[in-house]
Amino acid sequence: MLLRHTPAEITERQALVINPAKTCQPIGAMYASLGIHGCLPHSHGSQGCCAYHRSTLTRHYKEPISAATSSFTEGASVFGGQANLLAAIENIFAVYDPEVIAVHTTCLSETIGDDLPQITEKARQSGKIPEGRHVVFASTPSYVGSHVTGFSNMVKGMLGVAEPSGKKNGRVNIIPGWVEPADMEEIKRLAALVGVGITLFPDTSGVLNGPLSGEFHMFPEGGVTIQQLKRTADAIGTLAMGEWYSADAARHLDSQFKVPCRVLEMPYGLKATDRFIEALRTVAGVPVPEEINRERGQLVDLIADMHQYLYRRKVALVGDPDALIALTEFLVSIDMCPVHIVTGTPGKRFEKKIRQLTSGTPFPVNVRSSADMFLLHQWIKNDPVELIMGNTYCKYIARDEDIPLVRFGFPILDRVGHQYFPTVGYKGGIRLLEQILGALLDRKDRDEPEQSFELVL
Ligand code: SF4
Repeated sequence: MLLRHTPAEITERQALVINPAKTCQPIGAMYASLGIHGCLPHSHGSQGCCAYHRSTLTRHYKEPISAATSSFTEGASVFGGQANLLAAIENIFAVYDPEVIAVHTTCLSETIGDDLPQITEKARQSGKIPEGRHVVFASTPSYVGSHVTGFSNMVKGMLGVAEPSGKKNGRVNIIPGWVEPADMEEIKRLAALVGVGITLFPDTSGVLNGPLSGEFHMFPEGGVTIQQLKRTADAIGTLAMGEWYSADAARHLDSQFKVPCRVLEMPYGLKATDRFIEALRTVAGVPVPEEINRERGQLVDLIADMHQYLYRRKVALVGDPDALIALTEFLVSIDMCPVHIVTGTPGKRFEKKIRQLTSGTPFPVNVRSSADMFLLHQWIKNDPVELIMGNTYCKYIARDEDIPLVRFGFPILDRVGHQYFPTVGYKGGIRLLEQILGALLDRKDRDEPEQSFELVL
């Protein structure tokens, strides 16, 4: 009973967060930066922040995460970090020779008020940025928003290199949102099947799910290149996955370079994937390829075959707004019942959208943004569920309440597979269902009395 002090009685709290359902902005910025080829993320703050961001990503991806830090000490904390960042930019290009440095701020440098556009301009004017090399940046104060905000800010920040050539290139930008490297591979595969030329950014496939080759490469093969990022301004359109993750960057391309954008939900599950494929198909002006139709049919077949195990099962969800909106739609579409839904990221629109999606479900629904897992646990105590879906921190609630847990989202610190198997698209929907059914049927096998213990389910 690790959470034995969680009471069932709920007291409204104003200024106290217990077991947050989010992590800090720079972690999102660092993850986005790793999706640029030849990029060294740089944390403008103290060594402790950078160590935390790196270790969280390392534990989730089981890959060493390289990043630099401005290494603030007492002097920088009082007088500002400009000198540290200028020295860092010079040293990083001299020692590691990246194509691009992606700088994000931290709570400390934001509180001091360090001005990244001014400092990077100074670095450029003083010759610290070699010819053909780049520095992009994003402001990521962690006392507002969450890792989702940091991710979004850095995706927009990387567009600092975008420059139109004056001629459209016929390609479509796809901003995939915070998904796994395997998901990014899946999005590229689906686009190739439909026949649409895309620029995916960020793209961590090949960076955080690469093979063990026996050789160390400071900068792995994957990632969107600087040349591709430059040409995002020449695209015929942008498909942005997720309002919170990706819309800011897509709208920036629209307002700055007249690249029209469309914001879609994350392609989790049947309906959201249908909309994504329809959007791709419309751009290409082709019918849906037979291979994709077949994958869709397989997902529908699985739902039909196993529907009796899913019907009216109550679920509690924790995660990021965009991911939870798509996941809720999927669960409702297969007659499961999300009843407690929590995100640590702010956004009243999230609550409204979840209310719309669950309006036809048979049970009362609790939903809250800017909330924590303590509240989720209290809701579960008052109205138990049969399944929890969320990150690894949910395992404490799952253990205490004896509820099966499907790991979904970030971070997943105690299981593998998320790097290698997609959860987007129809194939991803099959994987999600397989995980949900595995958890529910394992529990059924464990708890069923002997007289109704079945071999075939
Ligand atoms: S001080 Fe701020 S930026 Fe640094 S680890 Fe903590 S929350 Fe993140």
